[in-house]
Amino acid sequence: MDKPTPCTYCSLAQARIVEESALSIAFKDAFPVSPGHTLIVPRRHTASFFDLTLQEREDMLSLIARIKHKLQDEFNPQGFNVGVNEGFAAGQTVMHTSMHLIPRYKGDVPDPRGGVRWLFPEKAVFWDKKPEEPMQDLGDAKP
Ligand SMILES: [Zn+2]
Repeated sequence: MDKPTPCTYCSLAQARIVEESALSIAFKDAFPVSPGHTLIVPRRHTASFFDLTLQEREDMLSLIARIKHKLQDEFNPQGFNVGVNEGFAAGQTVMHTSMHLIPRYKGDVPDPRGGVRWLFPEKAVFWDKKPEEPMQDLGDAKP
C-alpha cells in the first residue's frame, strides 16, 4: 500500500524559504511566471484561504508586503498581481492555501489591461463594452 504523499508546502526544504514570519513562510514559485514570482503560505496546513484565522491572514498580508519591497529592490517591476487559487475549479493544485505575488514588467504581455480578468481571455477586454450593471447611480441627473 502506498504511503500518502506529504503536503508539498508542509514538507518544503528550509533552504527554499526566502522570508518568514510567526505564522507564514514565503518561497520562490518552482515554476515562476515572471522573475520574482513568490508564494506566501500559512505555516498551518489549511486548504482554504477562508478557513484561516484573521490573525493568519493578517500575518500573510504583512509578509507579502515585506516580500513586495524586497522584489521591488531586487527586480524593479512596474506592477504586481496578487492572487489566491481557491478550490480545484479555480486552479488550486496543492491543497495548502497559498498567495501568489507576481511581479509585472512593462511589455511582459502585449496589453496588460484587465490583469486577472485574462483568466477568461474571451471576457478580459471590457473597455470597449457596455457594463452589464450600471457603474454608478446617476440619480435624477440628466445630461
Ligand atoms: Zn500543507
